[in-house]
Amino acid sequence: MQFHVLTLFPEMIVQGLHTSIIGRAVEQQILSVNAVNIRDYTLDKHGKVDDYTYGGGAGMLMQAQPVYDAYKAVCGERKVRTVYVTPQGTPFTQKLAGELSKESELVFLCGHYEGIDERVLEEVVTDYISIGDYVLTGGELPAMVMIDAIARLVPGVLNNEVSAETESFHNDLLEYPQYSRPEVWMGKQVPEVLLSGNHTKIATWRLEQSKERTRNVRPDLFAKYEAKEKLIKDLSKEKRNYIHMMESLSRGRAELIRRKGSQVLLYDAQIGMAYLKATDEVWALEALECLPKEAVVCYTNQHQMLPLLKRFWEQCEILEKRNACYTQKDNLYVRHKDIRSRNCGDIICYQAYEEETPVAYIEIKKDGIPDLPVLYHRPGAEPNALQQEQYLTSLIAYTVNKQKETGCIPYLQISAQDGCARALLEQMGLYVSGDVVYKVEKI
Ligand code: SAM
Repeated sequence: MQFHVLTLFPEMIVQGLHTSIIGRAVEQQILSVNAVNIRDYTLDKHGKVDDYTYGGGAGMLMQAQPVYDAYKAVCGERKVRTVYVTPQGTPFTQKLAGELSKESELVFLCGHYEGIDERVLEEVVTDYISIGDYVLTGGELPAMVMIDAIARLVPGVLNNEVSAETESFHNDLLEYPQYSRPEVWMGKQVPEVLLSGNHTKIATWRLEQSKERTRNVRPDLFAKYEAKEKLIKDLSKEKRNYIHMMESLSRGRAELIRRKGSQVLLYDAQIGMAYLKATDEVWALEALECLPKEAVVCYTNQHQMLPLLKRFWEQCEILEKRNACYTQKDNLYVRHKDIRSRNCGDIICYQAYEEETPVAYIEIKKDGIPDLPVLYHRPGAEPNALQQEQYLTSLIAYTVNKQKETGCIPYLQISAQDGCARALLEQMGLYVSGDVVYKVEKI
């Protein structure tokens, strides 16, 4: 991922972002940080980049020309997401860090003095973001704060891939207390449960601690957590039909945009995916109008919502799906032993091998929902029907078990018309939804 920082103090950015974890990721070329000195682009012969504000008032303002030319030198005619760090912006959150980490390139514009001439902001800025309700002397610290938080979500930057998923703000909870050696320090004992080796008990203890901490310190966050938990509970009455919404919430992806009784609109900003459960068209339209313009997909189980979605997006494609979930305690049996995993960017791929040759694969996409497995087509070496079924069931079972390890309810989606897939999954012990789940994609 590439970060460009437009600033009057590039040395601050270079020094601040070339140490520790971020510095190592830069060395390994997982990230690049390009600090651009706005002063290099001024046309003023004395190197001036600021001037008095029209209409009077204290302080100086950064002028439009050097900022615009520095931006153009970096982006040319390319449209790159450009963040102006400003106390007047949307508050920066872990969610927003996650969304920005999906970009391949970002520009940060740092103000100084009284800020920057409004006209150049209108020309180049796509996002106005603040790090909090206080005023700093310049945008360099906010840009570094944001880059640090975004960069550690880029695959490969943290050694331990799961650690970002158990930290504070994931799922609207603060992290639980943690302890390291020795077992007793200053007479204080590490909580016994953490020494028990019982992972279920440890997970339960940690969740309770997280909840208590969040309730005490951040009641605003805890209210969000509780609203989501209540919704998950309500949806679980029809688990098979709404597993996609339940799991998007409990995996910390979807946010609750609107709710009225049993009607609800969720939105996953990382992939622009909405989930609509509604029967009243007027309510649904009002709710859809709250979605950001980046929303490109909407799931709904209600057939009567399709005309509304078609009107809302004008042009869209509709796919008919069914959810298949696995809710039993035991792991599924994986008959085929040689399965290997591969990460291709945001997509995880599990491949079945036969004598060092890949024979089939299953993909888990950006939205976390696996597709059905696919067999590689190898002319002259077609597997027989029994082998084919074994590859398919083994890859499904392997994926289900992997999802279970992370504490999720495993699920995948199949085409609503695919009777063979449905029979195969049911035979394996998965439950297939009675409802057709419509996936509406904006074109
Ligand atoms: N006059 C501006 C106002 O009242 O909104 C404040 C200007 S501030 C002194 C100078 C620069 O610091 C801003 O242009 C911005 O880039 C940066 N800055 C200050 N506080 C910030 C915050 N809380 N979040 C993000 N950037 C901030």
